[in-house]
Formats: sequence, C-alpha cells, structure tokens
Amino acid sequence: PQQDRAQLSSLLEATTRAARYFREQLRYAPQAIEYLKQRGLTGEIAKAFGIGYAPDDWNGLRSAFGSDYDSPALLEAGLVIQNDAGRRYDRFRDRVMFPILDQRGNIIGFGGRVLGQGEPKYLNSPETPLFEKGRELYGLFQARQAIRESGVVVVTEGYMDVVALAQYGFGAAVATLGTATTATHIQKLFRQSEKVVFCFDGDKAGRKAARRALENSLDQLADDREVRFLFLPTEHDPDSFIRAEGLEAFHRAVHDAMPLSEFLLRELRGDLNLEIPEERAKLVHEAKALIPKISAPILQLQTIRLLADDAGMSSEEVSHALGIKPPPRN
Ligand code: ATP
Ligand code: MN
Ligand code: MN
Ligand code: MN
Repeated sequence: PQQDRAQLSSLLEATTRAARYFREQLRYAPQAIEYLKQRGLTGEIAKAFGIGYAPDDWNGLRSAFGSDYDSPALLEAGLVIQNDAGRRYDRFRDRVMFPILDQRGNIIGFGGRVLGQGEPKYLNSPETPLFEKGRELYGLFQARQAIRESGVVVVTEGYMDVVALAQYGFGAAVATLGTATTATHIQKLFRQSEKVVFCFDGDKAGRKAARRALENSLDQLADDREVRFLFLPTEHDPDSFIRAEGLEAFHRAVHDAMPLSEFLLRELRGDLNLEIPEERAKLVHEAKALIPKISAPILQLQTIRLLADDAGMSSEEVSHALGIKPPPRN
C-alpha cells in the first residue's frame, strides 16, 4: 500500500503537469481557440473546465517533462505510448484536451477531441491505477455546488454536453465517459442528490443507453429517491438542444422528464397488442426481469399497480406472478 500510494502520487504529478502543459499550449493554438469559440464556449468556461490543447507533435510532452519523459509515470498514466522498438510518443496529438477530475479535483485522466472531422472523434486515457472508467463521472467536481443548490443532477453522454450546459447556465450536469451507466455511477450520483435525470442523445445509441441506465438503476432506488429520463428530439444531444432552444427550455425539459416507472412500463409494453391475452401474459412475463429488482418497496407496489392495469389483472395476481410477496392485508 505504501508503494501503491507512491505510485499514485507520481501518476497524479504527471497528469497535473501534463494538464498545465495542455492549458498553456491552448494559448498558442489559434485554430483550437477558434474551434472552441465556434462551439459557443467562452474563455471563462474553458478555464473552469481546464480545457487545453495537445499540439500536433509526437513528443510534445518532452518540452514539459524533460528527461522525466522517459520515466515510468508517463507510460503508466497513459500519456505516452511505447512502440515495439521501445520508442515513446505522445498519445494525444492535435486534440482539444478535457481533463477528467475525481471528486477531490485531482486530474485522473483526459479526453481529447479532434478539431473538426477525424477518427476517432474522442480519444480517452486508458484505464490506469488512477482512472477506472466505470466509476468516474466527468464534470462532477465542477457540478457539485449546482447539484446541491438545484437538488437534481443531469447525466449526459459527453464532455461537450456538460461544458455546453454549464456555458448556458445549467451547472448541474455530469457525463459518463462513453461507457454505460454502472451501478457505481448511480450510487455516486445518489450521494450528491435525491433526484437523477438521465439525458442521453436523442439517437438510437442514446435510447439504448437509457435502457441500460434504467436496468442499472432499479436496485439503487429508494422511496425517497427519484430517477427520470429526458428524451431529446432524435436530432439533438444536450449540447445542441440548449444551443437551439435555450436554458429555459432545458429547465422545462428536465422538470417534465419521464418518471422511471413510466419509462419502465413503456419499455415493457413495447409494441405488444394488449387486446390479446397472450400478449398481456407476455407483458407480465417480461416484467419478471425488472420489477422484482426495484429496491424501493413503495415504488415497487406502485409500479405493480400500473402493470396490473395494463395486464387486466389485480395487483395481487401480478405480484404473485412476479414472485413478489404482497404486503400483508388485515
Ligand atoms: P461532439 O459534440 O464533440 O461531436 P459528442 O459528445 O456529441 O461529441 P457522441 O458521439 O455523442 O459525441 O459521443 C458521446 C461521448 O462518447 C463522447 O463525449 C465521448 O466521451 C464518447 N465517445 C464518442 N466517440 C468516442 C470514441 N471514438 N472513442 C471513445 N469515446 C468516444
Ligand atoms: Mn451520440
Ligand atoms: Mn452527442
Ligand atoms: Mn455533441
């Protein structure tokens, strides 16, 4: 553990030093500044998120690290890559750099976006001893105060969603980093707020992400917690939506987001024809995989009642079919 701690602090020193270098380089990169401006970001918001630029240079970090460029820390932090011949080069080149902070504000990784077109659009730090993707939420450090003040946290897919929402005055947003929302993410979110609103892209991938978030939320629920889903028009993500429609419209959309219970029922209904007994049976059958997982007992009962209405059964019959013991009657 002593040695682990020493390694972690040497990795943190490397990421911190690299972030400073990327921030400085942004000042000498008019094309990167222009890119950020064109996406509607001010210097102030870029500063608040520590946004920087990795120059188009195979060994750019050498100018920041000198002989430390060859130390194990840069390799272990995922900042440099070593080829088979043992030569090292920078992972991030000619990209806008978004530092990823943990809850204490330590820089644990980076996301880098190409300016304009190019593949891959985003390049992220690999998993390192500092950076475990299924745990971290981009923007949480900056969002904490706004989350506390508004009582809600909005979960998006991308760096630019978080930064653009903040730019337009909605500070209580975070992003999963291109990974599915995990139970660990949800635990972390509920530690900040009793209300979590998932707001993924309006496209097919976004709707799939919402379905995963639904499944992974069920066993994190409690009767004093609330999860909702904000579905954007297909052509939008939170960034493009707030730019097109403005802050008030986004506030309204968050306020009107779909309750988890309703989304769950909609997912179960799919395109079943509930006129037909077989399809009503299928509805209840499908629910076996989801409703028993709901860890909020009162909400579970409420959801069973909604399902019972759809299925043309009593709540007791549905509970029995789901293998859930109904509450005692007296
Ligand atoms: P932008 O608005 O800058 O075009 P975006 O955030 O809308 O980007 P999406 O394609 O919607 O981009 O992807 C959402 C998130 O998924 C990104 O912010 C990034 O974290 C992650 N991501 C996207 N493409 C990649 C990729 N090729 N490799 C790794 N992560 C990616
Ligand atoms: Mn997308
Ligand atoms: Mn997007
Ligand atoms: Mn986008």
